Amino acid sequence: MKTQDIAQRWLDFFGEKGHAQVPSSSLVSPDPSLLFTVAGMVPFIPYFLGEQTPPYSRAASVQKCIRTADIEEVGKTVRHGTFFQMCGNFSFGDYFKADAIPFAWELLTTPQDQGGYGLDPQRLWVTVYDDDDEAAQIWEQKVGLPAERIQRMGKEDNYWNTGQPGPGGPCSEIYYDRGPEYGPDGGPAADDVRYLEIWNLVFMQYRLSEVRSKEDFDVAGELQSKNIDTGLGLERLAMLLQGVDNMYETDQVRPVLDKAAALADVRYASTEDPEDPHYQDDVRLRMIADHVRSSLMLISDGVTPGNEGRGYVLRRLIRRVVRAMRLMGVTEPVMPELLPVSRDVMGGTYPVVVDDFDRISRVAYAEEKAFLRTISAGTARLDAAVSAAKSAGGGLDGADAFELHDTYGFPIELTLEMAAEAGVDVDEAGFRSLMTQQRERARADAKAKKSGHVDTEVFQRLREQGPSHFTGYTEFATESVIR
Ligand code: ATP
Ligand code: MG
Ligand code: MG
Ligand code: MG
Repeated sequence: MKTQDIAQRWLDFFGEKGHAQVPSSSLVSPDPSLLFTVAGMVPFIPYFLGEQTPPYSRAASVQKCIRTADIEEVGKTVRHGTFFQMCGNFSFGDYFKADAIPFAWELLTTPQDQGGYGLDPQRLWVTVYDDDDEAAQIWEQKVGLPAERIQRMGKEDNYWNTGQPGPGGPCSEIYYDRGPEYGPDGGPAADDVRYLEIWNLVFMQYRLSEVRSKEDFDVAGELQSKNIDTGLGLERLAMLLQGVDNMYETDQVRPVLDKAAALADVRYASTEDPEDPHYQDDVRLRMIADHVRSSLMLISDGVTPGNEGRGYVLRRLIRRVVRAMRLMGVTEPVMPELLPVSRDVMGGTYPVVVDDFDRISRVAYAEEKAFLRTISAGTARLDAAVSAAKSAGGGLDGADAFELHDTYGFPIELTLEMAAEAGVDVDEAGFRSLMTQQRERARADAKAKKSGHVDTEVFQRLREQGPSHFTGYTEFATESVIR
């Protein structure tokens, strides 16, 4: 089944069960506390909180999502994209656990020629929140799932929230056993590679006032009604139904991967084994395919590259594509080759990426060009420093990193990533201390220049520092803060 057909089947199934079919919202989160739409429930937050009255009591959607917190996993795990689509069914004070659980089971296990996805029931496992006996009982008694395939987990996995104050609640997740060739047995509690998480059923019941981490939050009270919020990873299900090993090999992603491999003249070996000589290029190709698609979809939703917030996320995605292609020997612009391939596979579901492609591509190509200019100067300098460091048997010192930043406009993250890829450590503390010294010099200068009663020190300091990137959205926040 094609990804698009899997999505349509979702809407049809829940449509027949009385759910309004709601089109995807933008990737730019309609909820101001979140940068991006990280889950299918985001557009419905005001309904869950009782701030607005929904025009329907049950709904289904296939929502475009971005999770920047997963960026480091992309290409390395089989299951994390920065962009993905979340199929969801929602109940606003209508049905609760006793219906949501059997709905999920029915859709997954009904044969494909009868409107379901036809997964083998023997391969399905579920988890429930530690003290959620009610959900465990429904799985066991109403669905008939053997108790051995129901596992209990703590807040980290089985208590969902957006990472911000808002609705939340315990959840029950469905996993698919990919088989002994993918890892040890023992269920999802033992191994999350062999047992692939596909669907999260959230029993949205509480209002959280403070969220410090996935496990550490304050429950302020009950919501005015008991709700259902579920999310199934469309690409994860597609990977199972298409019989491929990871989400980057599914029909909406793989053509971009193949195009990148052809441009770089490398063979994609589809390996997940870090010891395999093809592993590094495979990870790069998977990452490129993901990031090209995310860039396409973000620009299509109105994001433009910039130095902070959403714009910086987009900038970083495009830069990572360019760098990964360079590391495989391609120094020419690659976006003009890759973006149209992504458009062609995404256009069936999202016609806007075809209709608006002139604008989208102009934004992407200009960003790539600007970055190519920056790196051609800096990379030569970095390569020299790296090989000097290697032959001296040491790492890159703080002064090198500082010069790259100061003279070439190379962000420190880029230096860190590129040095790590070359197997060289960077004296980051040394770099930071040079940055501090520079700031202090600037401050002293500013003091000397201070005139009148206006203290311009802070502006001087900013000017001396040059442009700054706010990286907090992607670099420092813990996953729970972002998602
Ligand atoms: P994981 O543990 O695999 O990181 P999660 O628990 O963070 O997933 P949820 O927040 O429960 O994911 O989201 C609901 C569903 O959305 C998941 O069960 C999965 O199928 C899908 N999903 C989540 N994150 C991603 C991603 N980065 N790429 C693709 N699908 C995803
Ligand atoms: Mg996750
Ligand atoms: Mg999980
Ligand atoms: Mg989950």
